Amino acid sequence: MPETISTTPRTLDAVIVGAGFAGLYQLLRLRRAGFSAQVIEAGDGVGGTWYWNRYPGARCDIESMEYQYGFDPELPLEWNWSERYATQPEILRYVNHVADKFDLRKDVTFETRVTSANFDEATNRWLVETDKDDRYSARFCIMATGCLSSFQVPKFPGLDSFEGDWYHTGAWPHEGVDFTGKTVGVIGTGSSGIQSIPQIAKQAKHLTVFQRTANFSVPAHNGPIDETYKQSLLRDYPAFRKVARESASGIVRAPAQLRALDVSPEERDHEYQMRWEIGGFALGGAFIDLGINIEANETAAEFVRNKIRATVNDPTTAELLCPKDYPFATKRLCVDTEYFETYNRENVQLVDVKNNPVTSITPTGLKLADGAEYAFDVIVFATGFDAMTGALSKIDIRGRNGIKLTDKWEAGPRTYLGLQIAGFPNLFTITGPGSPSVLTNMIVSIEQHVDWITDCLEYLREHEVGTIEATTEAEDQWVEHVNFVADQTLYTRANSWYIGANVPGKPRVFMPYIGGLNMYSKKCEKVAEAGYEGFALDAKEPVGTR
Ligand code: FAD
Ligand code: NAP
Repeated sequence: MPETISTTPRTLDAVIVGAGFAGLYQLLRLRRAGFSAQVIEAGDGVGGTWYWNRYPGARCDIESMEYQYGFDPELPLEWNWSERYATQPEILRYVNHVADKFDLRKDVTFETRVTSANFDEATNRWLVETDKDDRYSARFCIMATGCLSSFQVPKFPGLDSFEGDWYHTGAWPHEGVDFTGKTVGVIGTGSSGIQSIPQIAKQAKHLTVFQRTANFSVPAHNGPIDETYKQSLLRDYPAFRKVARESASGIVRAPAQLRALDVSPEERDHEYQMRWEIGGFALGGAFIDLGINIEANETAAEFVRNKIRATVNDPTTAELLCPKDYPFATKRLCVDTEYFETYNRENVQLVDVKNNPVTSITPTGLKLADGAEYAFDVIVFATGFDAMTGALSKIDIRGRNGIKLTDKWEAGPRTYLGLQIAGFPNLFTITGPGSPSVLTNMIVSIEQHVDWITDCLEYLREHEVGTIEATTEAEDQWVEHVNFVADQTLYTRANSWYIGANVPGKPRVFMPYIGGLNMYSKKCEKVAEAGYEGFALDAKEPVGTR
């Protein structure tokens, strides 16, 4: 009978929420370790970020040879990346290839959103429920919900009245959008805006860009991958990957040795220019003091501003595009292809909305605070995400004593190592707040997290432990450490999504761990070696009791 089917939960070792890079690898690891697991995914396909963000120009900003899985030695050999920075369609094809290769889809429930997860203290199990009325009873609940998966459309009044079409970059239609002959408005100049604006400008009749904060952006210099470099990595990709994992950022590059202020202005500019020509994040790593010393930072900031001034023909537009209110690279550095050049096109206009914000969407377009109105066929919201906590907050998660995660996190997220939350036994977060995650090559961090979680579950099974739970003391110390490290840097001076500044009302807490993946991984290893120090292990009901 249907009632019986819907009320009897399916019993599993683990429910994994999300089928992006994290959820898929977690599924594979648990399956190989002999745990029963089911992935639940809101979309109708795998890929997470690369499934949802199909806007024109979407591509990775970490080089393809690094932005891929490293756990399987065959994968890098059998996938031939076509460009230095892979496009969204290519990354999505790659993730699908991985899902096919390891037959992962058979354990993924698609088009289903997890709505609640409740910890039952009587049975030490998580009851997970979905919008399709599916119910799961699982020993472990693993949140692979993504740091940048909860997209944000600002709550402008009047959006419902807009007679044209509107889109958010993070939920782009699968069939694409044809801007030919259209008058288009783009709101937002973060990475998504900076990638899509040049592409939209090429198609649209006219494009108006509404900029609240100018962003630092560095050219990608995209193109074919240098064959010698590629072959040198492929000769021993696991060794290359080990170096990535032991680095601070998950990206393999020689660490800077010098301080910007210890060299002459000429030497400094030479270094910046050399790195500008390499493209991408190379510039951000030019000197060791750029992230901690404002005077040093200003030298890099001014270098980029001068590049903008030299690129954009109209001096007023160029000055507007120059970031001046926060230190260089303390918001995610953007990596672009012909972004600043786009403002030299006759069909592109930049509108500063910093002190004259968008106040409403009208039936024909939008209105600014000073009363100016703009008419559009299409509005694109490149307005970002409720990062790191958004996807988790949308699920009604309740731990011991029915405590709600959103209540616990009212003043900002608190975790131990970004992996567990005190009061929420057997719940794990992959790249949760408090982990290096978004400040690194995410795939490298994801693999480190998933490996740690899987090893932990195997340990619990072997030692017949029923629950593992971060202690409040360990969590408090970790949160204090995360804040302490962030406070040593210039990052807290920027109104970034790292600090929740982009979501009205969100507590201002620096969410990722900025101490580096290398430091973080060592800490995780030490914790595990010490029998999961900082976690309370309870032998009440052994793992594997299904
Ligand atoms: P995601 O890929 O976000 O997957 C999470 C999945 O969980 C989603 O499919 C979502 O639908 C699902 N989900 C969430 N909540 C629920 C729920 N309640 N029920 C069911 N399903 C749910 N990182 C880099 O390191 N380099 C890059 O170049 C880079 N480029 C990026 C470009 C864009 C446009 C964006 C938005 C992010 C980028 N990132 C990049 C970060 C990127 O998110 C990670 O690299 C990585 O893809 C994250 O994988 P994930 O599996 O952790 O999360
Ligand atoms: P984002 O960096 O948060 O940028 C959102 C933009 O929208 C900002 O310019 C923001 O202005 C603006 N905005 C938000 N609300 C607004 C409002 N009410 N009025 C006017 N402007 C408003 O989001 P994103 O560009 O989607 O990027 C998010 C992250 O995803 C990136 O930092 C990166 O980690 C990842 N990503 C990577 C790539 C890549 O290159 N591979 C591409 C896309 C995304 P303020 O700055 O003033 O808040």
